[in-house]
Amino acid sequence: MKIHSINHLKKIKDQRFLVRVDFNVPLDGKRIKDDYKIASGLETIKYLSAKGGKVIVLTHLGDPAGKVKLALSAAPLANRLATLLKIKIKFISITVGEKVEAAISQMKPGEIIFLENVRFNPGELKNDKAFAKNLASLADVYVNDAFAVSHRPQASVDAIKNYLPAYAGLLLEQELKALNKIVKPKKPLVVMMGGAKIETKAALIANLYSSASHILLGGGLANNFLNYKKFEIGKSLFDAGSLPVIKKLLVGRATDKKILFPVDVIIKNRSGRIFSKKITEVSKSDIIFDIGPETISLYAKYIKNANTIIWNGPMGKFEEVHFKNGTISLARVVAARSRGRAYGVVGGGETVEALKMSKMMEHVDWISTAGGAMLSYLGKAPMPGLKKIVS
Ligand code: ADP
Ligand code: MG
Repeated sequence: MKIHSINHLKKIKDQRFLVRVDFNVPLDGKRIKDDYKIASGLETIKYLSAKGGKVIVLTHLGDPAGKVKLALSAAPLANRLATLLKIKIKFISITVGEKVEAAISQMKPGEIIFLENVRFNPGELKNDKAFAKNLASLADVYVNDAFAVSHRPQASVDAIKNYLPAYAGLLLEQELKALNKIVKPKKPLVVMMGGAKIETKAALIANLYSSASHILLGGGLANNFLNYKKFEIGKSLFDAGSLPVIKKLLVGRATDKKILFPVDVIIKNRSGRIFSKKITEVSKSDIIFDIGPETISLYAKYIKNANTIIWNGPMGKFEEVHFKNGTISLARVVAARSRGRAYGVVGGGETVEALKMSKMMEHVDWISTAGGAMLSYLGKAPMPGLKKIVS
């Protein structure tokens, strides 16, 4: 696979670069709760600016659905970027139009301009060609550094590439290189998956099935499989539409030992008592909220033998103190095995939150906050944002 990265660009000085980033940070009012995404996106901007490029930064924030919602203005992101880079950045309160063009025409080499939330424009989510053309007219080169939205057919990641030469930013390039190590793994590859929605995860399980040595399931995801296998799961989280998905996935594989399920679970019973049970003992009124201690030690054994590990999706409702043990214990095992012993990749919004709680983030080789995009990429779904950038 060839990644057309900005590293290969010969001419940067005086060129205008439209850099699509993913600075979609969690907010508390106007306060940025966690600037991890901004901090990880600095390299591309620094690189282009240091070489005399004119850098126009564009991101989405939240989901304003094509309307101007001031609570989702990108202004605080521009401020935080300026603080992190220790330079002045001009914020423009619209995304396209004369005011933007005028500001860009005044730019000097190395300067940075930050545009308003691209999703304030109705054309963005519709992948609208006219809007993409307007965006493209602002720059000479398009740079995609937003892996998290690269599975979406949206104007600023997809249609825009019809009108400008397109390159991968340094973060996007790093992300692809990390994920490609999962595509061609050093074996044994151990895949640990949990979380909630099965539709988003089934393709990944199907695609990694042949290269994985073991697939360890937990969380709401495992409930679906257990239900399919006629285990009682009581009132646990499960997805009624999951049966055909699992059926398709397990055809010809049902007797295979590759996919592992929890052997015990932590449940809350009818009277609100919380305790562990064997998976065969769950009753109709129980709710499964975590994997049990035997499952933790079973899964840990597999992880400790892995040479490549991918983990997506919490093993339980880790946000609640009684149900975080499965996820946090195994997060620590994954982290301890990573960096040197195995190549460890952890991805997904809630999964990364859980990894943070384990306080072992820095031991994992690659952390991807781009849950959906990562699942799409590894599951070999179409990636409109990578067209023309990867060949
Ligand atoms: P990610 O964003 O990391 O891919 P998901 O979005 O798939 O993860 O799922 C995360 C959510 O799944 C968490 O908020 C967690 O509380 C929930 N979850 C996992 N297991 C269970 C369970 N057994 N019961 C209820 N919720 C669960
Ligand atoms: Mg999630």
